[in-house]
Amino acid sequence: MKLNYPLKKLLKILMISMLGLGVVAATLLLQRHGYHAPGIKTDREVALLSEDEWQDVVNKNARVTGPHAHKALVLYDTTEEGSADVRDNVEFVMKTLSVRTVSLPETAFDQIAANLKNFDDLIVCSSNMQKFQAILPDIEAWVKAGGHLMFTSSPNNDTLDRSWFPLLGIQDTMELGSIDIGSLQVQTDIIAGAQGMDFSSDVITGNVLNPDLTKDCTVHIATADEDKTPLLWEHDFEKGKVIVSNADLMEGKISRGVIASSYCSMYPVYTYPIINAAVYNIDDMPSPAPVGYDENVLEQYGYTIYDFYTNVWMPAMQKLAKDYDIRYSTYTIETYDDNVEGPFDYEENRKSASYYANIILNMGGEVGIHGYNHQPFIPEGFRLSRENRGYKPWPSIKNMIASMNQVISYTESLCKGINAVSYVAPSNVISKEALQELLIQVPHLRVYAGIYSGTRDQMVQEFEVLNNGVVFCPRLTADMQMAESEWWMAVNELNFHYMESNFIHPDDILDEARSHGGDFQEMLNSYRKMVEWIVDHGVRTCTISEAGGAVQRFANLSVDQELKGNQLLIHVDGLIDEASMMVRTNGKVPVNVTGGTIKKLTDSIYILTINSEEITIDLEDE
Ligand SMILES: [Zn+2]
Repeated sequence: MKLNYPLKKLLKILMISMLGLGVVAATLLLQRHGYHAPGIKTDREVALLSEDEWQDVVNKNARVTGPHAHKALVLYDTTEEGSADVRDNVEFVMKTLSVRTVSLPETAFDQIAANLKNFDDLIVCSSNMQKFQAILPDIEAWVKAGGHLMFTSSPNNDTLDRSWFPLLGIQDTMELGSIDIGSLQVQTDIIAGAQGMDFSSDVITGNVLNPDLTKDCTVHIATADEDKTPLLWEHDFEKGKVIVSNADLMEGKISRGVIASSYCSMYPVYTYPIINAAVYNIDDMPSPAPVGYDENVLEQYGYTIYDFYTNVWMPAMQKLAKDYDIRYSTYTIETYDDNVEGPFDYEENRKSASYYANIILNMGGEVGIHGYNHQPFIPEGFRLSRENRGYKPWPSIKNMIASMNQVISYTESLCKGINAVSYVAPSNVISKEALQELLIQVPHLRVYAGIYSGTRDQMVQEFEVLNNGVVFCPRLTADMQMAESEWWMAVNELNFHYMESNFIHPDDILDEARSHGGDFQEMLNSYRKMVEWIVDHGVRTCTISEAGGAVQRFANLSVDQELKGNQLLIHVDGLIDEASMMVRTNGKVPVNVTGGTIKKLTDSIYILTINSEEITIDLEDE
């Protein structure tokens, strides 16, 4: 096949969308939507926009790329397990980074050579190097002339001919072998927040190349063992750049930070929109405390569970919030009964719930909805995953909605100033039909805080805004003592969305799996470490509705950027009032900014706050 139909078609589409962008006049309403709920100490800095406010400012062309967008050719192999998944993940990240992508499967690889000249980047999501052997000279010539080449997965040793070594930065002095790995360590600051952390086989395993690299390579990630096997390296090849991920470092949602960091490291400077929000969620709060004693709690503190909550847990959480200037988002449960028939009128916990709701609000926090009870909204016959079994199905959508309306009015009556607009589903579980009905029948709920990565019965989400301005704002990590895989997720999201949203429960100590031995002081120390890590990396503390506002500002942006000499010229559409962006540099330092302000995160990462549609960053060579 000689003609490349998909490419031609894409060029046409690009032309049309560029025209569209030109026509969209920048007549956006620039106003600050502050809202001051009575009884809440703090101003909501990043206000959640109502449906009307959202309609006034919504950018229908959000994420449409501008005239200077990079073009990436993404290669994948339908015969290789996981290749298409990595491609999807890469394309997702590229969309946020305002990079245009064209994907080609292995059946169209014969078109690569002729079309390389139309692209800035070549992203290879396949490990069978034989499939590209014939066009190696074309790829080499293209990189030498300034192309950017990224491998997302370890090149398969059996298919890797020595003729690739110069391009990949591998020394030609030895037999190249492969090795089983089970750890990783970040060696440079292109991935913020991971310094000093080792990750084990819980996060990374696989059989990878075991190369000696040439001196001009920079190793960003290596194994954490003595071998220091390079897992992610960068190689300058004349005017071009090569990035090799020598492991499955770009697979799945939890790896998006590595993809964004790696991509940007191929350019002197690059910027992309971020959410910039740290949310500290406490599920099942306020909720009725279990009655009586827990042996572990009694032994450690001599208290009943309720007295432990009041005298130990809550004061500890208050101190932590004060120490780090953070605010909690909590979610009410009215009763733990399993009544799905109605009437929904449990009132016995009101006094205690009011007491806790007042404390949360006075700390600048926010109270949302978890449920009238803890029975997820699922119909008869709904298949729960193993970890979520045991819940009772609801007889009708009508009953679900009635219980929801009840818990909203109950929550808002607990104390003055509660505007319960956010929702966390019990165990994050909900049926698709129930979610659809909630969206239609309960317009009061404006932020759905599901989960970023979870089981098929859960509310698994991306950060996104629906047509009516309702926000999906998933939680990323769980528990006071985060597992290694949760930390890897946190590191990746710090580097991609500049976001963390963790959830805990007052009763974590009663749960063996969540308390790891049940020493509350240890749990608290781990939680403190996580909070400190986020605060140290400058992520803005938000309640859940503020985070919803931050997602609205993030999702509404289209970004175009051009490096002209030592100036990065940025144009955005869809700026609501302020928005955050991450700027990554490679051998350059920002010295002056107009249209915004900039803060250093690492030697190569900066956080840019923009308040204008035109932003200029003056740079100096390092
Ligand atoms: Zn819960």
